[in-house]
Amino acid sequence: MLSVAEALDRMMRGFAPLGPERVMLPVALGRFLANGIDARWDAPAFDDSAMDGWAVRAADLEAASAEAPVRLRVGATCRAGERQASHEPGTAARIFTGAPVPAGADAVVMQEHVQVDGEAVTFRAPIRPGVNVRPRGSDLRAGQRLLAPADRIGPGEIALLASQGIAVVDVVRRPVVAIVSTGDELVELGEPMRPAGVHASNGYALAALVEESGAIARCLPLARDDLGQIEQILRDAVCWADVVISSGGASVGEHDRIRGALERLGARLDFWKVAIKPGKPLIVAWLDKRPLIGLPGNPVSAFVTFEIFVRPCLRRMLGDPAPFAERILVRLAEPHRHGTGRPEFARARIERLDDGSYRARLHPRQGSGAVVSLAGTDALVVLPADRSELTVDDLLVAARIGGRGSTTSPYV
Ligand code: AMP
Ligand code: MG
Repeated sequence: MLSVAEALDRMMRGFAPLGPERVMLPVALGRFLANGIDARWDAPAFDDSAMDGWAVRAADLEAASAEAPVRLRVGATCRAGERQASHEPGTAARIFTGAPVPAGADAVVMQEHVQVDGEAVTFRAPIRPGVNVRPRGSDLRAGQRLLAPADRIGPGEIALLASQGIAVVDVVRRPVVAIVSTGDELVELGEPMRPAGVHASNGYALAALVEESGAIARCLPLARDDLGQIEQILRDAVCWADVVISSGGASVGEHDRIRGALERLGARLDFWKVAIKPGKPLIVAWLDKRPLIGLPGNPVSAFVTFEIFVRPCLRRMLGDPAPFAERILVRLAEPHRHGTGRPEFARARIERLDDGSYRARLHPRQGSGAVVSLAGTDALVVLPADRSELTVDDLLVAARIGGRGSTTSPYV
């Protein structure tokens, strides 16, 4: 049985960013660049005014003061979107924010600081050259590196790219994930319930986790505990999916068919057990470089093992250089007892206290069958394998469900 660290390490090694795809800018949100992008234009593209006011030659206002104001004749008018005007020395040009500063003027006086009467503008103070003028290229030069490969596209990056007229970018493609739920007892939502039937909830939960990770989920029809059927479904799925995830049938019961189906397919089995609670049966196999991941059928186990092992792999495929959730050290709100032997990943809610430390409130139902513990919780807290009595003073490792931003797993 592998430790969490060993299993994660072996698994992550097989995953790399997928190839690029070209998308329109808004679609790039949350994605990772496949290539670097350089500036196409100087920014600003011309000397422009940062204010509504009056463009002047600073030299014309050198002598201006409250006692001896300087009057300048009204000259050109410069509006945003109009070609650069020329500036006649000894005049003041009416100018609006974003308009090209007229050739010959070198400063803009805020309109609030002048007095206008008919044909003349009165200035009561000198101004330094350059004030309220944004020189061409002062933010960016054409050709300068804007964004590097693997940079994440957030709203700020979208703003920058759009300001450069860049409407199309190459980002790492999203993995397509096939989800196969297996079990003779499973009943599809909307189908009439059968005696001893179980609503097939894992497909929905896993699809939500996959989509939340940034990948594309494709749920297949329910599969029976039938070796031939499962083999065929997996064989088809690897043809079009980047990752195949199954739930159920991963342990060693006679109806647990996943391992057998993988063997018949000729997949290379990497491992099938991890020392973790809830979880344990977790099968990772490879067929023609395609990963097949067998999660336990137990809804809590499937959820937790996805969170710890599968999410970072999908994030890495998406090109995320920091695919793991960040580690948070927490103290429990109440003392807790748990079984030892394997580290237990407890579902919890964490809050940040005024002193900056974190407190975790474990869900009262921590049984591996307790689906109730999945709703309303936002973190997993690791209860150590070697100690059954935990106090409110123990510092424990935790991470937010759905987190990213770290280059190493919070749990190892
Ligand atoms: P298994 O891993 O196949 O032994 O299943 C373990 C437990 O999880 C059993 O109680 C199953 O009924 C349940 N289970 C398996 N698959 C699903 C599913 N897709 N949705 C909900 N429960 C499931
Ligand atoms: Mg089963």
